[in-house]
Amino acid sequence: MERIALVVFSGGQDSTTCLYWAKQNFDKVIALTFVYGQKHALEVQQAQKIAEQANVEFYLMDVSFIGTLGRNSLTDQSIEMDKEKPEGGLPNTFVPGRNLFFLSIAAVFARERGIRHLVTGTSQTDFSGYPDCRDAFIKSLNVTLNLAMDEEFCIHTPLMWLDKCETWALADKLGVLSLVREQTLTCYNGVVGDGCGECPACNLRREGLKKYLATKK
Ligand code: ZN
Repeated sequence: MERIALVVFSGGQDSTTCLYWAKQNFDKVIALTFVYGQKHALEVQQAQKIAEQANVEFYLMDVSFIGTLGRNSLTDQSIEMDKEKPEGGLPNTFVPGRNLFFLSIAAVFARERGIRHLVTGTSQTDFSGYPDCRDAFIKSLNVTLNLAMDEEFCIHTPLMWLDKCETWALADKLGVLSLVREQTLTCYNGVVGDGCGECPACNLRREGLKKYLATKK
């Protein structure tokens, strides 16, 4: 039987690495990208471009209500982004419920197509404080989805225990280091590739790359 994986795909460093990881581990890969009210439309364009290049089926789904349900600085222009994690709280870049909604919708989407493997780029190693990136949450949701639909979904998280340096190493191993570096969009200010260089996402990405490139010398 053909093994098919559905990748929750944003066009960022992590999910692009996962897309290529899935291509290596499954017979067929499908990318599902969500429009959730993110400020940067470019993110969606990059996702589509990368999926086309990777020769995987690409689906775009509008779930913009998610960004309006819980106020956050990724979807609300009027909120200035937290540069650092505030003491004892979550940064305002946290979109409440995002991964819960994304994976739940992805599971229904997958079920309709007879797919049971879901792939997401969440990681708790460079933990930015997002509770829905943690392994316990993913495992719990996996059980819940199976109970909810009487299915045997398997949520794969190839990056869960990798830090950013190791994620770059994986991209390199998959032969897509340059592609990930040049075409993905991780920056909170919407700059493709190496990004704005100043936001928390750029810092994390750059430090990881620096560390990884140093190991190659
Ligand atoms: Zn940036």
